Order: sequence, then structure tokens, then C-alpha cells
Amino acid sequence: MELLELFRPLISADNKFIREWKSRNKPVLGYACSYTPEEIVYAGGILPIRVLGSFEPPKLADIYLPVNVCSFAKSCLDRALKEEYSLLDGYVVSNSCDNQNKIYDLWRHCTAIPRTYFINTPHSITENALKFFCKELERFKEWLMNSFKSEISEENLKNAIETFNENRRLLRQLYELRKPNPPLVSGSEALEIVLSSMMIPKNEHNKLLHELLDGIERREDLPKEGERLLVSGTVMSNSKILRLIEGVGGCVVADDLCTGSRYFWDLVKENGEPMTTITERYLRKIPCPFMYSSEERFKHVREMVKLFDVEGVLIFSLKSCDVYSFDAPLLAEELRENEGLPVLCLEWEHTLSGIAQLRTRIEAFIEMLEE
Ligand code: SF4
Repeated sequence: MELLELFRPLISADNKFIREWKSRNKPVLGYACSYTPEEIVYAGGILPIRVLGSFEPPKLADIYLPVNVCSFAKSCLDRALKEEYSLLDGYVVSNSCDNQNKIYDLWRHCTAIPRTYFINTPHSITENALKFFCKELERFKEWLMNSFKSEISEENLKNAIETFNENRRLLRQLYELRKPNPPLVSGSEALEIVLSSMMIPKNEHNKLLHELLDGIERREDLPKEGERLLVSGTVMSNSKILRLIEGVGGCVVADDLCTGSRYFWDLVKENGEPMTTITERYLRKIPCPFMYSSEERFKHVREMVKLFDVEGVLIFSLKSCDVYSFDAPLLAEELRENEGLPVLCLEWEHTLSGIAQLRTRIEAFIEMLEE
């Protein structure tokens, strides 16, 4: 379907919407983690975009970092060192994993990004953590206003919340289209759409999504039927792996990814003081693996499995991603024992070195499911 082809090019940090935004002298802020409260950024007239790295070997970052550092975090730094993020007027990191935390200092001292900021995100959800995080986000708001000479009023925040929530509702509608067999949208297409939502102004993305959802029921080139799979992991910054899975007979109908459902599943409450409701949403959202405890996330995975009629699960651990690698065996055990689901655990590098072995193992897993 032609409209679906529009989203993939938008994942680039050089897309037409960013160029147009910059041409109006408006600032762009890169962010590293789905715990960054984008609404606050957007309310200040600043475009938040996700820094997604690339598949290139991170040769420059390798000079600064040991081998056992997450290849995704390394790849993002590598692009910044190569000045491929010169469009960014600033970069913000959230206190998620040790890799991101420590690499933040290199972003500050060794890249040409003019402004950097660190949000101290709590790793558990308690009343004290909520109070702390709310203050932390107030400090972030002050930093944005001072650094970019912008005004972030309560009204602007409310408008930003509405726009972001609309995007989340539309993305959930898009995911609904993956329930039938065959689905109306493939896993790789859905991932491209979610990734593109992180790279352009949300109001523009909403327009594209409305247009897509209005016409999708008439789609004739439906994705192929196949074994219905859920993919779990941290970051997938493009659709190559999902296309590989689809190419060997898998049909990815659901995900537990921080660049997938975990990014948009939860809404911000629209009635209430905006900074409080934003705080609540980000701390209480479906947790990423760095949060205590894993059970809430596992619950979300089990719900997705049922909602999307999943027949098998692929767990992708990025090499040296401690937070996810500790969780992965527990999640696999839970899905095998409590849900009776076949699970395949895979380790991968963001550069996709070793893709041939990944392909062989995925192919064998899908053949096993077919039998
Ligand atoms: S993939 Fe893991 S280690 Fe890498 S940035 Fe994400 S949470 Fe951190």
C-alpha cells in the first residue's frame, strides 16, 4: 500500500519535516530514552526526536569505549562524534541504564552538541519517587525555557498532552489491525510507523495516521499469513530484523519493545495539573527493564500474547545490555511455564554482525512452530 511507504523515510534524522522545522529556526532536541517527557519539550516549541544510531560499525566510539558496551548506545555516540547529528540543538539523556548514564559524559565533553541535559529518572515507583521525579521534571522544564528562550505555559502543556495522546490512540488503533489473520499491517510496517512518530512533529504524524487508518480497510496487498509471533527486547531502530523474520515465514503481530508498544501504550491523564499527570504517566507506564520490578512488564507481555493470539515469542537481547539480559531468562521461563508458549532467546549486535546465524535460528524456530 502506497501510503505505508511514506513512513520509512521519516525514520531518518534528515527527513523533510525536520528540515522544514529547522528552516523556521526552531530548535530540535535529541533524546535517548522513552522515559524522556516529550510533551514538555514540544510545549516549548522544540521538536523532540529520538536518537537511533545506525548499523555502521562504531569505529570512532570504539576509540573511547571498551568492547563490552551496548552496541546501540555506542552507535548513537559514534554518529555524534562523526557530527552526523549536527542538526541537534541539544541532547537529553534519562537515567536509564549504566551504558547510557556513563556515555552521557562523552556526549558532553567529546561531541559538538551545544547543550546536554541529564534527567534523573527513579528506578522504582513509590510516592517519594513520584515527588522526586516531578521536581526533576520541573528542573528540566526550567532548563528548556532558559536554554531555548522558550515559554512553557500550562496551556501549551495541555495542548501538547492532547496531541501526544491522540498519537498514542491512533497507534493503538494501528495495532488493532494486527489482530486479524492475516493482519492488515505487518510487524515491520507497524515498527516503521512507530519509529517515524518519534522523528516528526506529532501533529503531522497524526494527520498521516488518520489518512492511513481511513484507507487501510481497502488494502489489497495484505501481509502474508504465518506463525503469529511477539518480539521482545529493548531498541529496534529500524525494521530489518522484523523483515528478516517475515521473510522466513513469521508474522510479527505484537511487540514488547521500547521503540514499539512500550513507547506509546499508556496515555497521560488529560484532567489534572499537567506536570503532575506527565510525571505519573512516565513513571507508571509499562516499565522498561531498568525499572524495578519486572513483573509489570511481564504482565504486559502476557496480555499482548492473549490480545494478539501469539503462537511463539522471540526474545532479542542486545549484547552487553545488562538490564534486559538479566530479565530475558525470567521472561522466557514465565512464558514457557505459565503460558505454554515456545520461546527463542537470541543475542544480537546493533551492527547486525552475525545476522546469518540469527536468520538460521529464527528459521528453525518457525519450522518447529509449523510442525
Ligand atoms: S539497549 Fe540496553 S544497554 Fe543499550 S541503551 Fe538500551 S537499555 Fe541501555
